[in-house]
Amino acid sequence: MPKVTIAQNILAVNENIAQEIHQSLTERSIRTINIMSSPGAGKTTLLERTIERLHKQLGIGVIEGDVETSNDAERIEAAGAETVQINTRGACHLEAHMISDALAQLDLTRINLLIIENIGNLVCPAAWDLGEDVRVVVASTTEGDDKPAKYPQMFAISQIMIVNKIDLLPYVDYDLQKVRRQALAINPHLRIFEVSCRTGEGLDEWCDWLTTFAHGV
Ligand code: MG
Ligand code: ZN
Repeated sequence: MPKVTIAQNILAVNENIAQEIHQSLTERSIRTINIMSSPGAGKTTLLERTIERLHKQLGIGVIEGDVETSNDAERIEAAGAETVQINTRGACHLEAHMISDALAQLDLTRINLLIIENIGNLVCPAAWDLGEDVRVVVASTTEGDDKPAKYPQMFAISQIMIVNKIDLLPYVDYDLQKVRRQALAINPHLRIFEVSCRTGEGLDEWCDWLTTFAHGV
């Protein structure tokens, strides 16, 4: 099947570039996370709240992936992180070569923590290694509570799950215990944070984890 062969070659090329990125970031003591979710789960707002809290103690760089527009990058920059926008012009995930190009635009000497905000999509971003140390999937209480069951690959390849918008739990049909159970059945090592970017609940725990991570042990 020629199609399968081509797809595998493309993924193999991506893997090589991702390894080069990982090596060069590690040599510079830069720790990297790749944040993924469906559209509207609150990745950009989570980053704003996170960067506002941490930008005085950490050098934070952000690579902001969007299909179109630079609205999110402008919000992130205003929160206090050096930001590069990638517009994929239709592509539904980021690839490692895009990260290489974006890194050339950042002053890496000032960065300890690199955050990549992927395109809102729970499917193919799971297949594309970007050279990150840790993958974070954001779920939110305004989505269905069957996301881990429907998109198991995303939860299998992530190390962290953040459940956002927990302030809305009283108003939505979202069974948090079910989501935890489903996610941990797929990936027993998944670390789970429950947060509200609106009220700030849970953000201290997440930011503490991220600070320790950025100092890299
Ligand atoms: Mg966004
Ligand atoms: Zn895609």
